[in-house]
Formats: sequence, structure tokens, C-alpha cells
Amino acid sequence: MPDSRHIILAQPRGFCAGVERAIEIVERALTIYGAPVYVRHEIVHNKYVVDSLRSKGAVFVSELDEIPTGGITIFSAHGVSEKVEDDAKLRHLPVIDATCPLVTKVHKEAQRNEAEGNQVILIGHAGHPEVEGTSGRIKGEMLLVSSVDDVDRLQVSDPTHLSYVTQTTLSVDDTSAIIAKLKEKFPAITGPDLRDICYATQNRQNAVRELASKVDILLVIGSTRSSNSNRLRDLGEEMGVASYLINNEHDIKTEWLENASVIGITSGASAPEILTQGVIAYLQSLYSVTVETMNGVSENIKFKLPKEVLVA
Ligand code: SF4
Repeated sequence: MPDSRHIILAQPRGFCAGVERAIEIVERALTIYGAPVYVRHEIVHNKYVVDSLRSKGAVFVSELDEIPTGGITIFSAHGVSEKVEDDAKLRHLPVIDATCPLVTKVHKEAQRNEAEGNQVILIGHAGHPEVEGTSGRIKGEMLLVSSVDDVDRLQVSDPTHLSYVTQTTLSVDDTSAIIAKLKEKFPAITGPDLRDICYATQNRQNAVRELASKVDILLVIGSTRSSNSNRLRDLGEEMGVASYLINNEHDIKTEWLENASVIGITSGASAPEILTQGVIAYLQSLYSVTVETMNGVSENIKFKLPKEVLVA
């Protein structure tokens, strides 16, 4: 008789509307325009997704100068700076923009704040493509803060003309603390509170908060480059549960599971469900397994596709 394990699946988990839209844009572009189509940066942060689109003819590049003249050019879900957009125009590259509309909303918010005469602060993680894109959407310098300590060190030109925006995939708890510190230090600052953190990030974090109270171990399926997946793992740890970020079942170490009779599984917004099913199948090969899905929010959001991929 094999050992038994109970699995609880987070609800919601996995793909968000922005990721589904970005993948559909690349697939439709391949169908309409034929391979290759060029995607600047990983379309979403997931190796399985990127490899599968690559096998269909997508070519992933780091910069626009790797794209030949006339090459169909797709911007990733994370968004790009105005300079990248301008460079593409200068080269007359046919662009299809897969930036998530919720990231575009933050770009516009930052631009509106600057137009109103405010210095703009971005709460986010240095080096993330979304942060590079949002920072490059305003004319002046975007001040980046990633922690409460960064706020302590922050120098601004005029504390009475100050606003902030945030990355869409941050930890709700950490961002609350940073915003509270900003408001304490700069009482006149304006900003969206937590509303820039997208629905998918908030829903997945809420689900993990609930899941963590029921499980002995948490497996988060997602890439190490995926901001929202990392935040799910961090949250599990903060809730006192041993939490691991894995690409797929091959990353699981059996010693993690030895004393874990209830295993929680979630996946980041860029991780396809097939990876979750692979992890469950692997656990079924080791143990006698029962699987339960949490009650949770069901998401029905769908974003409009850009016109370039709506042609027959
Ligand atoms: Fe858009 Fe949120 Fe998904 Fe990012 S995680 S692509 S902001 S819906």
C-alpha cells in the first residue's frame, strides 16, 4: 500500500486574462502572417509557453535590432518604454502590442500624474521588464522604490507634488507597507493605493493565504523570473508553510514531501494548467493521492485583441 497524500489545488490559479491574450496574439499572428514572427522578450515568463510558441515559429529577441526589416514585431505582455515604441516606428517595423491592458493603464496613470506636475514614484522590482517599460513612459526620471527602507532613503524635489504608481504583480502586504511609509513621509502624495496590483495577482495571493492554513507544504508552479509566482511562494513562507517555486514536476525533491500529508498546489499567472496536471500525475506515481480544489473566485475577464490579429 503506497503512502497517501491529499492535494488541495488553489482557486484561482494559473493563466490570467493578460497572459491568455498575449499567447493568443502570437498564435494568431503566426496564422495570419506566417512564421517567423518576432517577440521582444519572453511573451510571458514561462519556459513551457515560450518553447511551445518557438516550436510554432515565434522568434524571441532581446532587442529590436535583432529583428530584420519588415519583421512582424510583438511586444510582450509586460509592456515597453516609449523609446522602444519610437525605435520600432523609426524602423517601420509592423508592431502588434501584446502589453496587458492593465499594464497600459498604469502607463497612462504615470503619464497623467507627470502631466499634472507631479514627480512620479514607481513601486516595483528593479530589472523587471514591466518596471523598465513603465519607467520609460514618462519624460522625467521615475523614482523606483522596492522596500520600506528605499522610502526612508528617498529624496524628492517637491514633497507637495508627488504621486506613485505600482507594478501590477507585487505582494499586496509589502506594497501596503511601502504605501503607508510613503504617506507618512510625504503626506501630500497621491496614488492608487493597491488598485494598480491587478485582479489576477490579488486573487491568486488571496487564494494562497487561505490555502496555506490548510496544507503542510506549498508547491508554486511558475518561473523564477515570474514576479507574481515569486510573490505566491513568498506569501506561503510568510504564512509559515514550506513553499517551493518549481517549473514542473522535475524540480520536486521527494524529501520535501516526506512529512507532508497535505500538499497545496498553485500556479502563477503565466503557468499553463498542463504543468499543474503534470505535477499531480507525478505525485500520483509516488503516492495514493486524493485531489480537492478550493472554493474560490472564478474569473471571467477577457481582454479585447488588437486589430492586427482580428483580420481573417
Ligand atoms: Fe495583466 Fe495581471 Fe496578468 Fe500581468 S498578471 S498580464 S497585469 S492580468
